[in-house]
Amino acid sequence: MSKQPPTPAPAPEPVPEPTAPVEEKKPEKKEKPKAPKRRIQVHKLYKVDGESLTRLRRECPRCGKGYFMAQHGNRFTCGHCGYTTYSQKS
Ligand SMILES: [Zn+2]
Repeated sequence: MSKQPPTPAPAPEPVPEPTAPVEEKKPEKKEKPKAPKRRIQVHKLYKVDGESLTRLRRECPRCGKGYFMAQHGNRFTCGHCGYTTYSQKS
């Protein structure tokens, strides 16, 4: 009896499937139009006239120099400390 080497069973080669184009699932989200974030434009707070400098906004009495108050209608508000003062209109 001749010994035959055990023939390995031919493993069926995996047929490479044609890769279908992967469809990206897009979550249907409607992006709300965001308002652009406003940054304060410091150069608008000053008015340089030659050698003199004029501050166009009121300064915060609490925070001191360099802290300007925003104007909302008839009031001024400091965004730093929250100080609010009302402009008196007659
Ligand atoms: Zn302040």
